[in-house]
Amino acid sequence: MAKKILVTGGAGFVGSHLCKRLLDEGNEVVCLDNLQTCSKENINELSSNPNFTFVLHDVTIPFWTRVDEIYNLACPASPIHYQFNPVKTTKTSVMGAINMLDLARDNNARILQSSTSEIYGDPMIHPQPESYWGNVNTIGIRSCYDEGKRCAETLFFDYNRQFNTKIRVIRIFNTYGPKMAENDGRVVSNFIMQALKNEDITIFGTGDQTRSFQYIDDLIDGMIKMMNNDRDFIGPVNIGNPNEFTMKELAELILKLIPESKSKIIFKDLPQDDPKQRKPVIDLAKEKLNWEPKIKLEDGLKKTIEYFREKIKK
Ligand code: NAD
Ligand code: UDP
Repeated sequence: MAKKILVTGGAGFVGSHLCKRLLDEGNEVVCLDNLQTCSKENINELSSNPNFTFVLHDVTIPFWTRVDEIYNLACPASPIHYQFNPVKTTKTSVMGAINMLDLARDNNARILQSSTSEIYGDPMIHPQPESYWGNVNTIGIRSCYDEGKRCAETLFFDYNRQFNTKIRVIRIFNTYGPKMAENDGRVVSNFIMQALKNEDITIFGTGDQTRSFQYIDDLIDGMIKMMNNDRDFIGPVNIGNPNEFTMKELAELILKLIPESKSKIIFKDLPQDDPKQRKPVIDLAKEKLNWEPKIKLEDGLKKTIEYFREKIKK
């Protein structure tokens, strides 16, 4: 049955893919965004769909509409974006969560929080299961994002215990794909843009730190499965691809996939509190959602490189 679904942060990288998928499934979609870290270009193709509405709004301000479901994605996600106005980042996560949880409670709607692997901080346990409580520096430059997201998880579980609000919480691991902002400083978009423009590839630190990259389509499948699971499984659940790579390996793979590139790898200082390793345990997602990622890094990177190639041509 078609539903009316609110997606906050719906014009961003993940949000625009999610809005498209929900529209393709026949739903009515309200995309709420303040356009802080994205280009409205991401949702151009959706704007002619009569089931799609864009609302320019900031989640730190209460919002009312009638809805069946809410996906709460509004929050800058890349380190340079969330560190640009860190006080605002914390407000977005915390006040945004309160406003959207109030909306869900008043509508008796289901609400899914896009939490993050960052809640594990610089993890002392590897790989990271959901039962790990994390290792976050409360006063570092990443804390506005990490602590904001941790507090949002707390609010979600407290609304569930106190008001019976119907929550779902996913912890997203590094995700990449078309429609990432080319200037947001994340490693995949940086390396691809640098390689395509024959600029130096900037590895921070020694490049031995690891991440596990998931392609956007796998994330969207996991998000929708989590929202729709009727087993009362509220999470938190890791949604990520356990294939772990060092940043050096990532740079080399991207150069292999762009053979015409004249870029050289250079090394720059490692930012403060940069996690040394990250890899999800996804047993819970497999068991409860029958979900696991399908797209290999090399295949996902090829599609992403094509997207950025076209973008540069334009
Ligand atoms: P993004 O920056 O592309 O999208 C975030 C969107 O939220 C943008 O469109 C931005 O304009 C909007 N936004 C920011 N503050 C807002 C506010 N106060 N009010 C309304 N809108 C606001 O980032 P993304 O990668 O698409 O991330 C989406 C969500 O997924 C975020 O909550 C992020 O924390 C989470 N997440 C993403 C990743 C990833 O690797 N992409 C990993 C973990 C978690
Ligand atoms: N990184 C890098 N070069 C860049 C951008 C990032 O080596 O040009 C590193 C960064 O220090 C981190 C990893 O790549 O170790 C992932 O960074 P990103 O900002 O994409 O995500 P996050 O650190 O939030 O996982």
